[in-house]
Amino acid sequence: MSNPSILILPGDGIGPEVMAEVKKVISWFGSKRDQQFDVSEDLVGGAAYDAHGTPLHDDTMAKAQEVDAVLLGAVGGPKYDTLDFSVKPERGLLRLRKEMDLFSNLRPAQCFDALADFSSLKKDVVAGLDIMIVRELTSGIYFGEPRGIIEEGNERVGINTQRYTESEIDRVARSAFELAMRRGKKLCSMEKANVMESGILWREVVTEVGQDYPEVELSHMYADAGAMQLCRWPKQFDVIVTDNLFGDLLSDAAAMLTGSLGMLPSASLGAPMENGRPKALYEPVHGSAPDIAGQGKANPIACILSFAMALRYSFDLGAEADRLEQAVEKVLADGVRTADLLGEEGVTPVTTSEMGDAIVAALDASL
Ligand code: NAD
Repeated sequence: MSNPSILILPGDGIGPEVMAEVKKVISWFGSKRDQQFDVSEDLVGGAAYDAHGTPLHDDTMAKAQEVDAVLLGAVGGPKYDTLDFSVKPERGLLRLRKEMDLFSNLRPAQCFDALADFSSLKKDVVAGLDIMIVRELTSGIYFGEPRGIIEEGNERVGINTQRYTESEIDRVARSAFELAMRRGKKLCSMEKANVMESGILWREVVTEVGQDYPEVELSHMYADAGAMQLCRWPKQFDVIVTDNLFGDLLSDAAAMLTGSLGMLPSASLGAPMENGRPKALYEPVHGSAPDIAGQGKANPIACILSFAMALRYSFDLGAEADRLEQAVEKVLADGVRTADLLGEEGVTPVTTSEMGDAIVAALDASL
């Protein structure tokens, strides 16, 4: 069988810096675990605009459709702020998500014990937290028609439409149930069925899909109550599935339970390809961080943990994903910190590259 294929798109700002550390990890799996990947690399965002006058070249888009997984760094930067909307760096990322039809956005909120003090919540509320929010990414109020600002009488009216088809709810619910099966077998679906018809349909369809997953304990919660429960006692959850709008808010809130932006990975998954693997894009949640770009200060962990998600969800290498996550955990427990993770007195920060090296050394120690 051929090696799994990965397209690396480092992007702009700190994107190439954090991606350089992921490449070390990929090489480690090749040399020490005999797990080879066919890796190709291309441009996205401002880097692609500089080279081709477009934030995503058609050839790059075609490659992204063919590979088993796309790994993206970050896009954007002040240099591109004045560009026309149609060629802004972010358009490259949006085109990838749209044309790959990545409808299921996985945002883990995981709190490493060594960083529990970074959360704005009490340590015992977040220590050991490991939950996953599945957000529908391609439909709902951000895309529904009619939309716009119209004149009505003597004033303007802003309109957006929340709209979900059964099949859109069905496919994202299935991806959440599948995920729950691989984790703690608990799924909480969040909507506003008390005030929105789309929420009533959401609840009905999720319940129907649940009949195919009798092992998963399904519960439903109104999204506002869910937000409260996330802050009160987040460890009650395992997997949460919700729509595009609520998922946008809830996943950002949940992410902040765990501390730094430099720690947060994500995956966006689409329909299965011919080989059974889902279309997939893995990327850190953070942006291109122009304020620290080129200074060796960026934390590469979010990007490395995004690769761990690729191991688990695209390549069925769950044990290797565990190994990589445990290596990150060990490095943090040993007190290795990039500048964004400083809190304790007397700790000297390591560089981006030193953090990558420490994680590779911890991988070595795991053998
Ligand atoms: P940002 O995530 O780039 O940075 C926010 C703050 O967090 C900055 O102070 C930055 O230094 C810090 N930070 C982010 N990642 C870090 C890391 N890995 N290690 C250490 N510190 C880190 O968000 P922003 O400043 O709002 O946006 C900067 C640019 O990135 C903009 O052009 C924006 O459009 C773009 N952006 C891109 C993406 C993406 O590519 N997915 C996401 C968000 C923002």
